[in-house]
Amino acid sequence: MIKRLLKFLDASPVNFLAVKQLTDALEKAGFRRVDPCEPLGDVKSGDRFYVTKNDSSVYAFRIGCRSLADAGFRMICAHCDSPTFRIKPNAEMACEGGLVKLNTEVYGGPIMSTWFDRPLTLAGRVIVRGDDALSPRTRLLHVKRPLLQISNLAIHFNREVNDGVKLSKQKDMLPILGIITGELEKGNMLMNVICDELDVKRGDVLDFDLYLADATPACTFGVHDEFISSGRLDDLSMCHAGLEALLAAPASDATQVLAIFDNEETGSQTKQGAGSPFLASMLQRIALAQSGTVEAFHQAVERAFMVSADNAHAWHPNYPEKYDPTNHPVLGGGPVIKFNAAQKYASDAVSASIFAEVCREAGVPCQRFVNHSDVAGGSTLGNILASSIPLRGVDMGNAILAMHSCRKTGSVADHKYCVKAFTQFYSK
Ligand code: ZN
Repeated sequence: MIKRLLKFLDASPVNFLAVKQLTDALEKAGFRRVDPCEPLGDVKSGDRFYVTKNDSSVYAFRIGCRSLADAGFRMICAHCDSPTFRIKPNAEMACEGGLVKLNTEVYGGPIMSTWFDRPLTLAGRVIVRGDDALSPRTRLLHVKRPLLQISNLAIHFNREVNDGVKLSKQKDMLPILGIITGELEKGNMLMNVICDELDVKRGDVLDFDLYLADATPACTFGVHDEFISSGRLDDLSMCHAGLEALLAAPASDATQVLAIFDNEETGSQTKQGAGSPFLASMLQRIALAQSGTVEAFHQAVERAFMVSADNAHAWHPNYPEKYDPTNHPVLGGGPVIKFNAAQKYASDAVSASIFAEVCREAGVPCQRFVNHSDVAGGSTLGNILASSIPLRGVDMGNAILAMHSCRKTGSVADHKYCVKAFTQFYSK
């Protein structure tokens, strides 16, 4: 299972590629792609299908033995985007000596210094000319070799570098791509890479959504190989755990739903984010197909339960003062239930009790996280989704170190625990 996770992480440098990995796995397991442009048709017990939005979010459904209205649904949601750098239009900047660097824009809230001096690659989607203006074609791009690097300034030019450095997103975070070797490369270096990788003509490339990604493969480390080191662990580890559980769980009375959203790192307010009505409308369409009434959808929501799965902060041995004195989850201690008095998290005593009981039934330990009261925490999917679908639910996730770093540290045991807990949840 951990080998599968590492493979999934390496094959998912950005949201679009993660969704491709997820849909490939779903199809292999017998889930059928549904086109939201077409009527849903009959929806029968045991049906398995999925739908995507913008190629960057995916929603998988396994219809329960009982109707949505009678048994509700069991939903696990997570997000497939991570903080990174987006390549701007007209990105090439020619410098001294023929060196070419790329103009970038920050996506989400990365710890920028962690992106220095490591091999990076380029991934995302390229839009090529289709049959007409409204139907361009999408090609996924993943350059599977180190292609770029953002280099630090030498310490000799900045003696205070180890005392903390203020970084400019526009000046400091531009990666170098190559050195021009001939006239044909001038102004074309990035486009040449795109066209070569995808075997398309330059004139057919209309636009792209391309991002930087850590090019170093994910790995385990530690004396007992008990840790995971990878880019994008937040929140691809939860996407992977949800997928593994969906494919492993037995059929249940309730409909099983796996919802993988995009754009969590920028506030979720897009058509493919957790703030979108898209998932609610899909559930309404399923309820309508089953029963012919909208009433069935509202009954299903009342009976439903959501697990909003997003990584949590693990206790860091170098900074114990940053953590709550009595609730600081540790690596390897099992899934973490997250609480916040200001309701940034969906968890309350009822939903936390339900999830803790699911963990107990699965034979998995679980932990609780609350922020140190003087430290402002982050937010996540649960409450944003609950504002469009009023679901009972819990916010949880596995504990990791260095959230929003280019590379995070997680726990092998926690991933196994999480898949067990999710499988148990889906079987309820
Ligand atoms: Zn996250």
